[in-house]
Amino acid sequence: MKNVSILGVSFDAVNKNEASDLIFNACKNKSELPFTVVTPNPIMVMNAQEDEALFSALASADLSLPDGIGIISAAKRMGTPLPERVTGIDTAYSVLEKLADVGGSVYLLGARPEVAEKAAERLTEKLPTLRVVGTHHGYFEDDAKIIKDISEKSPDLLAVCLGSPRQEIWVYKNRENLAGVGAILCLGGALDVWSDNVKRAPAFLIRLRLEWLWRMLLEPKRMKELPKMVRFRLLTGKSRQKRKSFK
Ligand code: UDP
Repeated sequence: MKNVSILGVSFDAVNKNEASDLIFNACKNKSELPFTVVTPNPIMVMNAQEDEALFSALASADLSLPDGIGIISAAKRMGTPLPERVTGIDTAYSVLEKLADVGGSVYLLGARPEVAEKAAERLTEKLPTLRVVGTHHGYFEDDAKIIKDISEKSPDLLAVCLGSPRQEIWVYKNRENLAGVGAILCLGGALDVWSDNVKRAPAFLIRLRLEWLWRMLLEPKRMKELPKMVRFRLLTGKSRQKRKSFK
């Protein structure tokens, strides 16, 4: 599969349909190790420049999707365009629809207590043939207990929503102990959206490429990410790209 590197972080050149087909196939034809999927945005690419564990976790994923218009613009500026923005949450929902068609299963891990259960209810209202085989909130300390629960349930898909970089590093560290899971997706705030606790940006703002602004207005703490976004833009200007390498 063709891929594009942005500041040393790799992105696969796939469109939305190809991404959801690849993940669905991995869910149904389980390999020895789960198929892992990350969805980096410009902030994560910047964080990976300073955080070796995050950098390695992103590099080890089987599929890396460009979740963020900033990534698409940077790839274009560099002369190595990616087909389109492929968001984690939309791709995951499309995989859930396919799983529902075949009676497949999902485990929802993350978010504050009761959010995953609420997301499970909402998802099964929309997709009654989807089997949500387990849920757990994301504020746990004992990995072993969670891993045992997930392994016993062997879901086709595991949605990990612990925020970045915790979720990517958690998956990187625990992947080998999760044999029996088909695919693992790192999905940030998806459970908050699926549970209806957080509203996604209106479609016109997404079209105007301003979803990031909506998130900043909803969560002003994200304002602190602005300087990183500016720095990302400067570092990914034509021929200014530097590649991070950890020795
Ligand atoms: N979260 C979690 N455990 C943690 C930290 C965060 O389950 O230790 C959840 C949080 O409740 C939210 C999701 O991770 O549902 C995404 O968090 P955030 O918006 O901070 O992450 P981002 O979207 O920036 O990756």
